[in-house]
Amino acid sequence: MKIAIGICEKINGICTTMGCFRAYNNKEKHFSQYKNIDTEIMSFFTCDICSKNTKENIINIAEKLKENGVDKLHLGVCIVKCEANRLDEIKEIFESKGIQIIEGTH
Ligand code: SF4
Repeated sequence: MKIAIGICEKINGICTTMGCFRAYNNKEKHFSQYKNIDTEIMSFFTCDICSKNTKENIINIAEKLKENGVDKLHLGVCIVKCEANRLDEIKEIFESKGIQIIEGTH
């Protein structure tokens, strides 16, 4: 199972992202569904819609994830609680490519 994790640019320099990796490495919290499944982290990317004022980069990332066989995308709580209230738009970009969204990592 190929999975990816997306986070918000606004946590850069604040969050270590270790919570996401700890949960993934231990297959706990929102990754517990993979307890008996081999998984591969394919991407750990940052949403930059706010600073770039465009969805272009995220659309490109969604296309590349799809091309490379990513099945599921976990969104960090920083995106789930998107300050710009754009969670639904972000989800739609990936879901339109057939990538399943899971809201949460840990
Ligand atoms: S749209 Fe939301 S998740 Fe993306 S950079 Fe802005 S606040 Fe962060």
